[in-house]
Amino acid sequence: MIGLTLLGSTGSIGISTLDVVSRHKDKYEIVALTANRNIELLIEQCATWQPAYAVIADDDLADSLSKGLKGKGLDTKVLSGTEGLQTVAALAEVDYVMAAIVGAAGLLPTLAAAKAGKRVLLANKESLVMSGKLFMDTIHESGAELLPIDSEHNAIFQSMPINYKDGLSKTGVEKILLTASGGPFRTTSLDELKTVTPEQACAHPNWDMGRKISVDSATMMNKGLEVIEACWLFDTDPGKIQVVLHPQSVIHSLVQYVDGSVLAQLGNPDMRTPIAHALAWPERIDSGVESLDLFDVAHLDFELPDIERFPCLRLAYEAMTAGGTTTAILNAANEIAVEAFLNRQISFTRIPELVEATLDNIPGVAADSIDTVLAADAEARLFANEYTKGALVS
Ligand code: NAD
Ligand code: MG
Repeated sequence: MIGLTLLGSTGSIGISTLDVVSRHKDKYEIVALTANRNIELLIEQCATWQPAYAVIADDDLADSLSKGLKGKGLDTKVLSGTEGLQTVAALAEVDYVMAAIVGAAGLLPTLAAAKAGKRVLLANKESLVMSGKLFMDTIHESGAELLPIDSEHNAIFQSMPINYKDGLSKTGVEKILLTASGGPFRTTSLDELKTVTPEQACAHPNWDMGRKISVDSATMMNKGLEVIEACWLFDTDPGKIQVVLHPQSVIHSLVQYVDGSVLAQLGNPDMRTPIAHALAWPERIDSGVESLDLFDVAHLDFELPDIERFPCLRLAYEAMTAGGTTTAILNAANEIAVEAFLNRQISFTRIPELVEATLDNIPGVAADSIDTVLAADAEARLFANEYTKGALVS
């Protein structure tokens, strides 16, 4: 049996992962489940899966979680806080760790899994955006396996040559074509964007996801974070990554080769496909996703992204080119801006403005340690919070 820790089990990716695992109970055993504050769902998941450990990130909720589990007659060990998350990511009985916490909070637990040499199933793109080089160095030093869950990166991985780690140019790869649906506002005018609501931003046309990534998809910061994620995963630079708007979300990304070939991975937009792929790799298992019906799809469209309406994409390219802690600053400012938008404190078009102001005011430095990265993250949050106060919706 393969032991599995699920960081962020109560979220969208967490729930989809449990759905895939439920089809293969003979192969995978859940060792630990974790949540931020949703103890009701965590207790319910523990009752179903009987993991050895349950972790609640918010220390104040640890007692309620223990009581709730006992009330169900469960003897699950309860841990809490970042330390608890790091512990279950590195347990000896754990083989694979699904990193599906949202945001910067995922960095230390995901890194703990990498350090412990686990197979890391990476959904938490923010940890690579914050500390790409340190993260990849850790993976290489520990001998951990890193498999992308983000649908685009999983598609790129599936379309890469087997020896891509020897270097993209050496293995005949010319370019990565990273597809983007364009989100709910692909055709919305700049003027209309000023007044869109969190509900409209979270209503993604093709994917059902957590609120933070839904807003990121609407601003296209998600695609910007994914450009950075792809640079680290495939050891390349932003100049080799072309974002392609593809509204149907059927092609999940493509790899272009020097001989004129372009390889792609296609499928229905359902995260259970990349989750099943990364769990079973190099084998294949059933994911519960319906087969793609090409006649039903009928048309595939492609467009160039509009950087004027989606400045977050430009900011992410610039941050990756600047390097060092600049991408951690971008990520932190974006998290504050998205939270403020979801709380109706700032308007949608203020999101890129707030991110750009933070990048202009906090200088990036060499990202030579995790402490340096965390300090840049904290400094950027402080600035972005102050800036938000000046930009409040009246
Ligand atoms: P979500 O909001 O639905 O779930 C987030 C999970 O993280 C929950 O279990 C929550 O309890 C936990 N969490 C939140 N804050 C935390 C904290 N401070 N400490 C510890 N745990 C915390 O998010 P999601 O949509 O499942 O996304 C998770 C990650 O996967 C994100 O990094 C996202 O970018 C990435 N991702 C998601 C999708 C998708 O389809 N949902 C696709 C690609 C990538
Ligand atoms: Mg994606």
